[in-house]
Amino acid sequence: MKEHNNSSTSKSGEEKEGFDLFWADQLAVKIANREKYRYVDTKSEKPNEFVVKTSASISGVLHIGRLSDTVRGATVYRALVDAGEKARFIWVAEDMDPLRKIPAGVPASYEKYIGTAVSTLPDVDGCHKSYADHHTDEYFKVLNEFVFEDMERFSMQEEYSKGNFALYIKKLIGNAAKVIEIQNKYRTNPLKKDWMPWSPLCSSCGKIITTRLTAVDEKAGIVSYVCKDYLFETTIAKGCGHKGEADPMKDPGKLAWKSEWAAQWARWKVSTEGAGKEYQVPNSAFWINAEICERVLDFPAPEPIFYEHLTIEGVKMSASLGNVVYPKQWLEVASPQLLRFFYNKRLMTSRSFSWKELPLLYDDYDKAAAVYFDKAVLENEKERMHIKRLYEISNRAKNKAIDVPSTLSFSHAAMVAQVFHDEKDIIISLEKTEHYHKEEHKQIMQRIKEARAWISLYAPEEVKYVLQQDVPDDVKSKLSQPQIKALKNLAEKIKEKKWDEKELYNECYTIAKEAGLQPPEFFKAAYMVLLNKERGPKLAPFLLALGERAVRLLGKM
Ligand SMILES: [Zn+2]
Ligand SMILES: [Zn+2]
Repeated sequence: MKEHNNSSTSKSGEEKEGFDLFWADQLAVKIANREKYRYVDTKSEKPNEFVVKTSASISGVLHIGRLSDTVRGATVYRALVDAGEKARFIWVAEDMDPLRKIPAGVPASYEKYIGTAVSTLPDVDGCHKSYADHHTDEYFKVLNEFVFEDMERFSMQEEYSKGNFALYIKKLIGNAAKVIEIQNKYRTNPLKKDWMPWSPLCSSCGKIITTRLTAVDEKAGIVSYVCKDYLFETTIAKGCGHKGEADPMKDPGKLAWKSEWAAQWARWKVSTEGAGKEYQVPNSAFWINAEICERVLDFPAPEPIFYEHLTIEGVKMSASLGNVVYPKQWLEVASPQLLRFFYNKRLMTSRSFSWKELPLLYDDYDKAAAVYFDKAVLENEKERMHIKRLYEISNRAKNKAIDVPSTLSFSHAAMVAQVFHDEKDIIISLEKTEHYHKEEHKQIMQRIKEARAWISLYAPEEVKYVLQQDVPDDVKSKLSQPQIKALKNLAEKIKEKKWDEKELYNECYTIAKEAGLQPPEFFKAAYMVLLNKERGPKLAPFLLALGERAVRLLGKM
């Protein structure tokens, strides 16, 4: 493995050893040490800088799943920089792609635009030059909160209109036979000999997907087309019937997807790009473009960053299922760093998010923070280094310090947030359980706020409760004499001295035993009196957090 002699990180040599354990660092090494093309026997030169590309289509719902490609791209970019390499991070708006269906919030009248490039659609709200500009802006507002690395922005529409792709269009058309041959290796219905990797925009209706080539005049460099209906999966792009001619070197148009991706890689000299795990198979658009890129455009195909997609409780996110998680919703209950951490864990392990289990993700993150700040000991040195690096890279940002999360666990915060409402009472309670440290005030209150939002929006019923003001009569009547005796005894004991969690926990067992109760009978009685429920949060810390309020309720028995 190569030396990481980078000055932008102050890590000691010993700690840098962790770099070979984290997926993005492993990938960075692979990218930097690339020596050959994949499909042809050509040596690949080491570039002056490594370009990490990420891109997005500009229609549809912007949910947290759509941030994953860019978050992971940013991580690889950071890994390259940390490995001492020069790198560049670019983001491309796929705004020459046609509108395929009407997204939520877009009027039904836009049906006439199905098949039109999103960059030429009018902005629904009228505040931008185009529909694509509006959505790119919205996208970036969100992206800038979650991605801390600077990105250079590009638009495919602008690229085409500036002629930045002309060279590649020319090469791809000139080598159409090779492009067809590469694709046909994987097709059951082979492409015909006159297939072209480029199609024009209809000069009459402006649609991009409806133009079908009828003739190619190679000498004049002109194609003829007719504008016909195009069938998407569930929608139809209506053709206008126009017959026209176009010059790929001058007229507006677009490369076919299995050519355009390759051209993008060659155009920006891309070294690596992310793609969902479904692209791993040899006949995927990724590998077909990779071969086109090398054999036709003479540029080494990038290293893929294959990853698992995000699911919600194991199910794909979809508006119709109502399980879409919007970035704004995420930020109500958690930080951008937590989402980055979630995405940056091992790439190919399934990535299912569950609102219910958010406290567990927080616990994971807090544990990693403790390891990072050397506050927790991990026996396994490799694991320690891996977690440190994962935490660091999920946090690294220009002009931003590494996140020091609160030492207050999310579950405890959720408990306290349900019982106390004033900041003063919260602090008093946290002091009793030794969860309050003045220097952490901001983080603690932030976590209380997030926990409160989580409780009201997403928490499962079993962790929601209301502290009783009084002991209801039907609860009293359900309890046995030994249970009542034990609870009174517990109230007295709490008053006796300042307990710590462990001591009080042991004392609970002693009290139960003295009253002749099995521990579950004792705990159930306590929860019935405090919460009018048979279960509740861990009793000892809960009692300590409640303090006098617990004593008062238990004493009423
Ligand atoms: Zn707008
Ligand atoms: Zn047309």
